[in-house]
Amino acid sequence: MRWASQQIDDTQALLPLRGLIRSVRTPEFAGVTFHEVACRSALNKVPAGSQMPFSWTINPTRGCLHRCTYCFARRTHEYLDLDAGVDFDTQIVVKTNIVQVLRAELARPSWGREHVALGTNSDPYMRAEGRYRLMPGIIEALAAAETPFSILTKGPLLRRDLPLISRVAPAAQVGVSLAFIDPALQQSVEPGTPPPAARLGLIRAIGEAGLRCHVLAMPILPWLTDSDEHLEALFTAVAEAGADWISAGPLHLRPGAREWFLGWLAREHPHLVGRYRRLYGRSAYVSADYRRWLSDRVRTLRRRLGFRPPPDTGREDRWQRAPLRRAGGSEGAGSYDPERADPALTDSARAAPSDEPVPPTQPALF
Ligand code: SF4
Repeated sequence: MRWASQQIDDTQALLPLRGLIRSVRTPEFAGVTFHEVACRSALNKVPAGSQMPFSWTINPTRGCLHRCTYCFARRTHEYLDLDAGVDFDTQIVVKTNIVQVLRAELARPSWGREHVALGTNSDPYMRAEGRYRLMPGIIEALAAAETPFSILTKGPLLRRDLPLISRVAPAAQVGVSLAFIDPALQQSVEPGTPPPAARLGLIRAIGEAGLRCHVLAMPILPWLTDSDEHLEALFTAVAEAGADWISAGPLHLRPGAREWFLGWLAREHPHLVGRYRRLYGRSAYVSADYRRWLSDRVRTLRRRLGFRPPPDTGREDRWQRAPLRRAGGSEGAGSYDPERADPALTDSARAAPSDEPVPPTQPALF
């Protein structure tokens, strides 16, 4: 088997990874090393006090081939003595026994069947999943244990498992991450991800499979993707693809992601570096003034395009989106104007709880 023939000798293995079985390179994934490990746990507990709307996560892999410059999870690679930059993109840890371990954990009498989120620290449908096929077993194990779960991905490979999800877990929350409608910008900011058209096709396929689809449009980048034109094009494309709901949020610049993203910004859009520094200051979060401004834009667009909020009361119909209505003329304030921002908030604001239903996102959880 070609994959097996690419195994790196143990003497060449660079990582003191617990449970390391072997390290593999293959021409199919040039420049990438997969470290196959036997994990000891599959379910990760979300730290107490977190604002995440779930208590548990599963990450079949660590590191991510999607290489998003803004990825919150980058710093988690430092726990493996790897760096949050190139190593996060190219040194991928794969928990090859995760299905077996998960089944054992779900069979414990103490398991409380709390919500489990997939797609928090790595994308479960990155291209390597085509080779490892870990997700079908994970989905089947969660469904068999009557455990609610959500999946958030940028990977059209999810299409492979839609019939399975429809059959065993039709109430699963399926989300697609799509924040850029301009393919050139998308390729620059998140160079390992599939283009917007492929993700719009995935949104359609999710609906055709009879599943509800939530789109996460995050991060919205100040001065790059927050214009009325970009937001309207993005939201309209998502509505036309049949998504049930869309959430959006601004870029966060947590340590790990901050250095990596600002490096990209300095290379690609050097004229914006000073404006970003003024907008974020030393904070990981954009100012409260900007958040309010963006929330208003998002609410207006959703209303005009007929999106209705997902159920927070258990009422099924609140997930449904009314028939698409084309957005009319431009309304509102255009791109963000820092001159109108409250300077007192700009440097010191911290992320406030969202006024919207909180979707699964990509926090650094462990
Ligand atoms: S943001 Fe998501 S898809 Fe992008 S690199 Fe991070 S985990 Fe992967």
